[in-house]
Amino acid sequence: MSIQVIYITGFGRSGSTILDIVLGSAPNVFGCGELNAFVRSGLLRGEPCSCGKPVPDCSVWSEVVKAWPLARDKSALRAYSSIVDKADRSPLIRSRVSARAWDFFRRHSADLYQAISEVVGAVVLIESSKSPHRLRNLLGLQGVDFQAIHLIRDVVGVVSSMHRGLAADPSAGVAKDIPSRSSFQTVAAWRASNHSAERVCRDMGDRSIVVHMEQMISSPVSTFEQVARHYGLDLTRVCAAVAANQPIPIHHPVAGNRLRMQENLVIRQDAASCESGARSDWLRRIAVFGASRRLRQTLMGGTTSRDVC
Ligand SMILES: [Zn+2]
Repeated sequence: MSIQVIYITGFGRSGSTILDIVLGSAPNVFGCGELNAFVRSGLLRGEPCSCGKPVPDCSVWSEVVKAWPLARDKSALRAYSSIVDKADRSPLIRSRVSARAWDFFRRHSADLYQAISEVVGAVVLIESSKSPHRLRNLLGLQGVDFQAIHLIRDVVGVVSSMHRGLAADPSAGVAKDIPSRSSFQTVAAWRASNHSAERVCRDMGDRSIVVHMEQMISSPVSTFEQVARHYGLDLTRVCAAVAANQPIPIHHPVAGNRLRMQENLVIRQDAASCESGARSDWLRRIAVFGASRRLRQTLMGGTTSRDVC
């Protein structure tokens, strides 16, 4: 039986960790977090899992390491990590690395999904690595059926979030200093990332859907229910907890937003995403310039046929 990987793609600071935790709470589903950071940050640097333990000592990931043959060889892990980084940054690395390196990346990535599935006993994995290029490079892996959620946050909310830099605090889930980003840098990166996500999702057809972060925050239950219906997940208990303002337990996402380091997640409205005024209009105009039809509609508050929420 194929492993189903529901891959959350889009730009950072868009709520992917929240969606990963919520979907990963369904029965027979496991939320991996940002799996593209598993080897580099988790195994090679020993950064903490969401449970608070260093990834190599986590009760789940330590078992994954035992079940994943590549993890026995540290130099092979470094080589794999280097290709993973390339695959994050560039689409179709097949033409940029040797055939041997491409096969190495694909084979061991498939083995990693297999090892996780075996250890956690789930055939559905949630991954919030976000990079659309990684998704493109992983499509067609043997034994892995990829589906995608393109998660889009309004550019104004992202700019506001990226203005706030973060100081390194590994125990709180911030591995290194994250400098403040200018509006111009953020808008350019947001647009490029969402454009790439849109293209890969378009190629995946009905194996992808679009979710808007603002809708997820303002109407979480209906948003999660629609995603659950589309992918055949049972989110009954999670949605009941959200509707009652009850916390959702956080398990072992391996990397992602620092909120994953809390024991529980309580979903509440993010005021930053509701920013309005002259600056917002100015940012939107820049973001809209040259953007695709669907992104323009997203920015102007419209919807398209592929949007589920
Ligand atoms: Zn853990």
